[in-house]
Amino acid sequence: EARPDADLLEGLNGPQREAVTYRGQALLIVAGAGSGKTSVLTRRIASLLRTREAYPSQILAITFTNKAAGEMRERVHQLIGQRADGMWISTFHSACVRILRREAQQFGFTKAFTIYDSGDSRALIKRLVKEHEGDAFGLTPAGTQSRISKLKNELADAESYARQANTSDPAERVFIEIFAAYQRELQRANAFDFDDLIAQTVYLFRAFPQVADVYRKRFRHILVDEYQDTNHAQYALIHELTRPPGSDAEPMSAGGMMIFEAEPAAESGASLTVVGDSDQSIYAFRGADIRNISEFERDYPGAKVVLLEQNYRSTQNILSAANAVISNNFDRKDKKLWTDVGAGDPIIGFTGYSQHDEAQFVADEIEALHRKGVDYAQMAVFYRTNSQSRALEEIFIRSAVPYKIMGGTKFYERAEIKDALAYLVAVANPADEMALRRILNKPRRGIGDVTETAIARYAAEHGITFRDALANSPQLGVGPKLQKAIDQLDAVLSEASALMLPASGELAPSTAVTEGLTLLLNKSGYFDALRASRDPQDEARLENLDELVAVTREFARNNPDGTIIDFLTEVALVADADDLDDASGSVSLMTLHTAKGLEYDAVFLTGVEEDLLPHRISAGEPGGPQEERRLFYVGITRARKRLHVSLAMTRAQFGEVTVAMPSRFLQEIPADLIDWRQSPGDVNGRGGTQSRALNARGRRPGQGGTSGSRYGDDLVPLPKRAPADPSKFPNRIPAKVRDNGDMELAAGDRIRHDDFGEGRVDAITGEGAKRVAHVRFDTVGAKKLLVKIAPISKL
Ligand code: ATP
Ligand code: MG
Repeated sequence: EARPDADLLEGLNGPQREAVTYRGQALLIVAGAGSGKTSVLTRRIASLLRTREAYPSQILAITFTNKAAGEMRERVHQLIGQRADGMWISTFHSACVRILRREAQQFGFTKAFTIYDSGDSRALIKRLVKEHEGDAFGLTPAGTQSRISKLKNELADAESYARQANTSDPAERVFIEIFAAYQRELQRANAFDFDDLIAQTVYLFRAFPQVADVYRKRFRHILVDEYQDTNHAQYALIHELTRPPGSDAEPMSAGGMMIFEAEPAAESGASLTVVGDSDQSIYAFRGADIRNISEFERDYPGAKVVLLEQNYRSTQNILSAANAVISNNFDRKDKKLWTDVGAGDPIIGFTGYSQHDEAQFVADEIEALHRKGVDYAQMAVFYRTNSQSRALEEIFIRSAVPYKIMGGTKFYERAEIKDALAYLVAVANPADEMALRRILNKPRRGIGDVTETAIARYAAEHGITFRDALANSPQLGVGPKLQKAIDQLDAVLSEASALMLPASGELAPSTAVTEGLTLLLNKSGYFDALRASRDPQDEARLENLDELVAVTREFARNNPDGTIIDFLTEVALVADADDLDDASGSVSLMTLHTAKGLEYDAVFLTGVEEDLLPHRISAGEPGGPQEERRLFYVGITRARKRLHVSLAMTRAQFGEVTVAMPSRFLQEIPADLIDWRQSPGDVNGRGGTQSRALNARGRRPGQGGTSGSRYGDDLVPLPKRAPADPSKFPNRIPAKVRDNGDMELAAGDRIRHDDFGEGRVDAITGEGAKRVAHVRFDTVGAKKLLVKIAPISKL
């Protein structure tokens, strides 16, 4: 008779089917990009539910980003036709936050703990390095932070590190002191940094086996996507969770904490399924360890291994390029991906004179594809470093290409957003001294360093928190004006706290976060200070804060019972990994690291130059260039139908124009797979014809390609515009570039554009700042321009 999950197996190939239906303790699925690893994981969850082998609450699935978690949840829902609410599908970080929120009181934290992002932890480390005079020993905040982070990913703490460090080296001793002080400060502030979320959960499980058992009994099926990028702490977490409940915990030094006696094992450990591709391991710099895959069979004896080789995502041309590139890495198991969808279009190559030229090519191609019916949302532009987005954004705005920056969003890094969140944190977690210190004089209330120190000293002397010291202003010995300022701040925080943290278990209304945030920003005078300012940047800051208020509203809609702590958790996790909004209707821009696991019809790989990809910093790292190659491989394999690779021969960065060389990776793609619209040779003058696109754009001031000098300045026109200053992008709109807000334009008008020359307006659509002119240029043809900012004048 038919299996209850038969429909879930439809369309799967043999190995995929096996991966969905295998029932054993441990299953490892290793396969190349686009071979259905994530799909198989999703179907496996659906199958476990459908056959009633598992309740939703017994499933823990780990994905790489929050976005991927959302998609997987949605897919499972579609497959089994019912919501599976108790299921945990989340990132490592989110899963650990959920566990820690429940259990933190077991080891000296409260459930309202703050999550320090890397900026917060950098600020704290900076202070400690200064206090310990670390710079005299060559310790920098950045270097110290990254060392501490690496150690935590290895599950080392200051004490265990000290035991094996060379403590006759004074610099080592200072580092260890700073590490220990950092940990004490975090504990005092009731805070975890990102690495702690994982590491402390592991400590928790090891120190309190009866707590671990709760989760071991609960999660009977654990599934991990992108396993190649797990680090040791994550590996250990999974290992703890898959031990049989009641099994002996490993003895550990738990700093005086009690180790409970274990019950005899009653049940077997959870079943574990991991999927990964060692060719896509791109997080070694964060401690990811490919050995977690290669040694899986040793760690989980009797594990079943399934290989998937058929790729369902990309055309053969794209796959051939990917296979060719990755085969240059040594020390890997060769696996050849194949597809039966046919060769497809050739890969398109383009070399720009400058990054603006390159960006213009990307924008033009996107518009051309869009006209052919490709959705904007089905196109993505990748780059190696965040700063490369600026030139792209500038050109996209001018060309009215809708876009959205994904991942590592800068939004939550803005000073005003961090201020607003610090106000919320100060309410939710009064122990968080850093948040309080941050807002002490924001807006300016005359509370300077001297007063701040006085408050801190009073707190220390009386053994109370910084927050409680604030509430004791008469004892601080400051003048009446300052005392009033402190009292006002104290009152605002108390009022917000009454609103957002009602006493005695009563639930705050879902609107509490929105109301609390508005109250804090209003009554603290923060809004007023920005409104009174004449700095145009402050206008943008107000808009950003409005956006944050909108985020709280959306949060309340999605989480009717959500508290301020839930909100701060969501923000902390999202700010680290990916965006709140989706990119519907827009082209996605992101770094190659963020692109992992995603797929798009058309992909643009930009800045494929030496020093960028492979990145300069990789050169000195062991295995660095190989990791960069895997990054390039990840980028290529995101494309379904169309792949573009591009570079610029000059790149303006940090105010300097440098001459760039084509990346060695380009040469690793078989030449017959790339159709160069404009090859590096065209640009540097070694022959080839100037591209039509460039002629048409009038950007060819007579460079004929006859000069002998390869990268001579005479051949490489400098970028037309000065490199953009980031501060001029308050809302990603180059406000200083131009404002034609009130230009009266109508169909039939003739205009001149700085880049495209003269043209005739065919139509005007949209209104206000979103007014778009549809212009037919004499040289480059039809273009859509955002009237407000396009470099145009009326003739
Ligand atoms: P990556 O390594 O990039 O994470 P992956 O191995 O996780 O890739 P998926 O994202 O699961 O691959 O699948 C790639 C694409 O192939 C998806 O669009 C998926 O829907 C499709 N796909 C997977 N298996 C099949 C199948 N048997 N038949 C048709 N399409 C499939
Ligand atoms: Mg995947």
